[in-house]
Amino acid sequence: MGPGPSDVHPRVLRAMSTPLVGHLDPSFIEIMDDVQELMRYTFRTDNQWTIPVSGTGSASMEAAIGNLVEPGDTVLVPTNGYFGGRMESMAERAGGSVVHVDAPWGKPLDPADVQDAFDEHQPDVFGFVHAETSTGVKQPNVPELTSIAHDHDAYVVADCVTSLGGVELEVDDWGIDVAYSGPQKCLSCPPGASPLTLNDRAMDKVLSREEAPRSWYLDLSLLEGYWGDDRSYHHTAPITNVYAIREALRLVAEEGIEDRWERHRRVAGALKAGVEAMGLGLNPEDDYWLPSLNAVLVPDGVDAGAAIDYVLDHYDLEIAGGLGALAGDIFRIGCMGYSAQSENVAFLMTALGEALE
Ligand code: PLP
Repeated sequence: MGPGPSDVHPRVLRAMSTPLVGHLDPSFIEIMDDVQELMRYTFRTDNQWTIPVSGTGSASMEAAIGNLVEPGDTVLVPTNGYFGGRMESMAERAGGSVVHVDAPWGKPLDPADVQDAFDEHQPDVFGFVHAETSTGVKQPNVPELTSIAHDHDAYVVADCVTSLGGVELEVDDWGIDVAYSGPQKCLSCPPGASPLTLNDRAMDKVLSREEAPRSWYLDLSLLEGYWGDDRSYHHTAPITNVYAIREALRLVAEEGIEDRWERHRRVAGALKAGVEAMGLGLNPEDDYWLPSLNAVLVPDGVDAGAAIDYVLDHYDLEIAGGLGALAGDIFRIGCMGYSAQSENVAFLMTALGEALE
């Protein structure tokens, strides 16, 4: 129950023991079609350009930013968590000039601040983190943020690593141009093939770049050969990870995406109520509480590291501490995918209660 990877569903583990076929085998091409269709369902998008990027969440993140950002573009990034900082590094490496919209760690972005940043800097690309794993904050008001960006003809990139498949996310309805994620959080799948989706408007920008992106491996205009209609070789796909993500996405579709969001709300809601009953608070306010990652305030006088070690040593249960500005101040307790089960919450309450005695 840490910040990811979450427990992997036994069906996904079983799918990973399927014998390998070639990455251009007709049976594998059918699996690729399935993955793309199921990924569209999970992202709530009709985007043609919806693929698993070979690599971890940072690979889909770099594919998004490294292709969309061209040298000389101004890129607006948030300062309210660890992963906004990673976006900044990637945007700079892509040749972008970075400007900030500020909010403290543990708070969401305020649309008024985003509006001011747009008026001041006129960015070409705006990146934000929908579910900040470092702080347990869910960014509310996403349609408000995307409409500010679109009024300025900018493109919106959303980090959905800790929201996809666990927290309400509507890529098309909310006007998100590019969204990326990772498989090891609410999809409960091992890392290795990471979801990415781009709408036509974003793909038009990518395909009309004057300069090729700096990464050959993540160049979407080349990856189109493999994941588009041709199905021609670009690199050898991580076959086993593609089997895994297909099974994980099938589990999402079988449960139903809305029911799955509801399960996360319900189970994490029990966790939240439980820690509150123990006299502990959550760092984020209810409006921006992130069910998949619960940031629980460490009570005064408690050594967070010692409590984390205690639950690992005595209960074999993983939870994590805060990072950066919140180091020592919060416990980060994941409630993601297959791990989001009532029994796990009951077990956690016992373990944490004892650790804090
Ligand atoms: N973005 C967010 C919000 C994350 O939580 C993570 C990983 O935890 C990443 C990006 C990077 O993903 P990965 O560690 O799989 O490369």
